[in-house]
Amino acid sequence: MTNLLSSHLEDRSTPQYFCFSIRCEVCGEFWYSSSIPFSKALQAAEHREKKELYDAIYQREKQRAMQAAGQEARERFSQCPICRRLVCDACFLICDEMDLCRECAGRMEESGEPVAP
Ligand SMILES: [Zn+2]
Ligand SMILES: [Zn+2]
Repeated sequence: MTNLLSSHLEDRSTPQYFCFSIRCEVCGEFWYSSSIPFSKALQAAEHREKKELYDAIYQREKQRAMQAAGQEARERFSQCPICRRLVCDACFLICDEMDLCRECAGRMEESGEPVAP
């Protein structure tokens, strides 16, 4: 699941903030992770001569931010066991026999309640 999530994370980071998004494959809505500020954004803007140093720190912090975004996304996305797509909680239904995405549940006439309405 973590690998699946990581492969769906899109980088929305700016020089000041790290942020990632994931698109639900059923409704197409984007979810954005909480943005995490780059700790050296000010210094990096002021000290151009140290660009390589700050770039390295930026990349390191970005890796961590990406892991945090992956953790956060785990609480909001599920993988449908039938179509294998990554779907948001509003599109993932808790059904009697197995939890399914809205589309698969509809096709099989399973009824259920969304994880998050
Ligand atoms: Zn959705
Ligand atoms: Zn499905």
